[in-house]
Amino acid sequence: MTLSELQTLIRDTFGAKDGRRGTAGTFMWFMEEVGELSASLRGSHSKEHTAAEFADVLAWLATLANIAGVDLEDAVQKKYGAGCPECHRIPCACGAAEKP
Ligand SMILES: [Zn+2]
Repeated sequence: MTLSELQTLIRDTFGAKDGRRGTAGTFMWFMEEVGELSASLRGSHSKEHTAAEFADVLAWLATLANIAGVDLEDAVQKKYGAGCPECHRIPCACGAAEKP
């Protein structure tokens, strides 16, 4: 599944609800899922449980992108398609203190 396919799937499945919830409400759900992912990574959960939390975070990110009218695949390609957005190398050659 590509990012575009994911975004379309999420739109087809939840688009009507997402539109009613709006950006602020959806962002709060997204952050709740990020918290659940954190708890799963820190705890002694199964790999399957942690994988499901990753799926939830990605699904809610796709929802946010749908509401904001952002094409995730295009955005990721533009920013990371040629490697590190700062040094433009693969692998990144930025110093350890720098963000990338
Ligand atoms: Zn870099």
